[in-house]
Amino acid sequence: MRDGNLSVTFLGTRGSVPVNGKEYERYGGATSCVRVLAGNEEIYLDAGSGIVQARPEQDTHITVLFSHLHLDHVQGLPFFPALAQAGRPIALYAADREGISGQEAIDRLFSPPLWPCRISDYPAEVSFHPLQSRFSIGSVPVTTMPSFHPGGATIYRLAYQGKSLVYATDFEHTGEKIQELIRFAQDADLLIYDGQYTQEEYEKRKGYGHSTASVGGEIAAAARVKQFFITHHDPRHTDDWFMQMERQNPQITYAKDGEEILL
Ligand SMILES: [Zn+2]
Ligand SMILES: [Zn+2]
Repeated sequence: MRDGNLSVTFLGTRGSVPVNGKEYERYGGATSCVRVLAGNEEIYLDAGSGIVQARPEQDTHITVLFSHLHLDHVQGLPFFPALAQAGRPIALYAADREGISGQEAIDRLFSPPLWPCRISDYPAEVSFHPLQSRFSIGSVPVTTMPSFHPGGATIYRLAYQGKSLVYATDFEHTGEKIQELIRFAQDADLLIYDGQYTQEEYEKRKGYGHSTASVGGEIAAAARVKQFFITHHDPRHTDDWFMQMERQNPQITYAKDGEEILL
């Protein structure tokens, strides 16, 4: 058993599509993946291209919780290093969406001609689990809230030894949903929030299922969360852009690929 810290590592903070190049080196270009280490539980929130950089611990129980199965949240899964470990149990949790179970959707992705092999062909022992509104992963209680996003998405709250975090990506703010998220995230130690757009960009992309850093800041303040990070960065936003935004709004922090937070 490790100490009481809840460790949270951003492995991928980009939304929509991975990017690379000199202008993305500081904040990173991999898509959605956050690793949470809570005692012996190693929990991945989404499996975007960031999960390719995961270095699983030897003796942990591995779980992947999917917010939803849009490509930017699953595209790293075929290259998740734990899948190559013979006999390693990996539990996948994904909600049914649009009449298709999580397992069926992932089986579709891992099938020719999209991909040459089935997920059951990998050396690891993968199991699928439907999503419930409340459940536990070992000693980590998990609660969920439906997001507002095309096709649906799930917001998660995880707790461990008195600390808690909320992962709210692929979330578009509406009056009602803002209030629901404020209640859901109340007093969390960490809120990770979809701030893909500026207010100006949002006006042109209403209905795309994403939010803004400033609305995230309002939710974080109203919910009295202790730490607050923006994720699901727009692929057009460069390092210079993020640094300029952080200078203008010192209360906003954009998460960076590879950054670890201890709660
Ligand atoms: Zn996304
Ligand atoms: Zn999405």
